[in-house]
Amino acid sequence: MPSSLRNLHVVPNEPASKHSTAGVVEKIKIQGLHKTYLTKTGRTVALQNVDLTIGGDEFIALVGPSGCGKSTLLRLISALIKPSKGKLFMDGKPIVGPSHDVGIVFQQAVLLPWRNVLDNVLLPAEILGIDMKKARERAHQLLELVGLKGFEMRGPHELSGGMQQRAAICRALIHNPSVLLMDEPFAALDALTREELGFELLRIWAVEKKTIIFVTHNISEAILLSDRVVAMSPRPGRISEIVEVDLPRPRTIDMEFTQQFKSYSDRVRAVIGH
Ligand code: ADP
Ligand code: MG
Repeated sequence: MPSSLRNLHVVPNEPASKHSTAGVVEKIKIQGLHKTYLTKTGRTVALQNVDLTIGGDEFIALVGPSGCGKSTLLRLISALIKPSKGKLFMDGKPIVGPSHDVGIVFQQAVLLPWRNVLDNVLLPAEILGIDMKKARERAHQLLELVGLKGFEMRGPHELSGGMQQRAAICRALIHNPSVLLMDEPFAALDALTREELGFELLRIWAVEKKTIIFVTHNISEAILLSDRVVAMSPRPGRISEIVEVDLPRPRTIDMEFTQQFKSYSDRVRAVIGH
């Protein structure tokens, strides 16, 4: 890992402004959303009556116990599955199928082992038929942004878990989507790398203004990174509390020890029962 990224607790490039929803263009709107899975053994109500509106440059953290429907909600937003009831809109239009305007990062980087880092990042550009010269330029910029300059020609197996996840973030951003969906992206990483990558993500978000929906089990991570923490309660998954995080930006690790942070944390914990 590049030494410049170690102990990156301050985010110098991040604008000092807050990302309040007030006045921000509405990017995603979810209305009366229900999702029931039908299986051989019965029905599982995964989501019940979910309403949420997300602003254009908002960073939303989605927290809740295992099985409360977080991944289901991301899959519905990315149109990988269809709702049982309710409506989803992006830019005011109903979400009917997968959109090029969305990038997704999962818990595992799943890089193709036979491709080097650069070619892994370029994969979606190839699939989407984007101008490869431009895509290559962008790939280099993104890799530099996440501290992977110099690792372009390496194989994924030569990278640490944190570096692989950085490459996966570049791959999700290569086609410049305006929405980034992240499903427990740092859950498989050790605590220090996880913390570094969180701040790294804020730096990317400052450069590449996106709507981010970030799923995590980690309440502190959720508060430290986001503008709003959406807390979901156990099955059937419902939004029980939305905590507006009024901490200044750039965020720093020492904010975790403030009374304000603790009160946010207590509110989220009360809902999700941790
Ligand atoms: P989370 O990501 O919060 O852990 P999920 O969205 O993965 O929760 O799952 C919510 C509920 O829906 C769980 O009870 C899970 O078992 C169920 N579920 C998820 N995917 C499917 C599926 N494809 N078929 C049937 N049940 C599913
Ligand atoms: Mg999940």
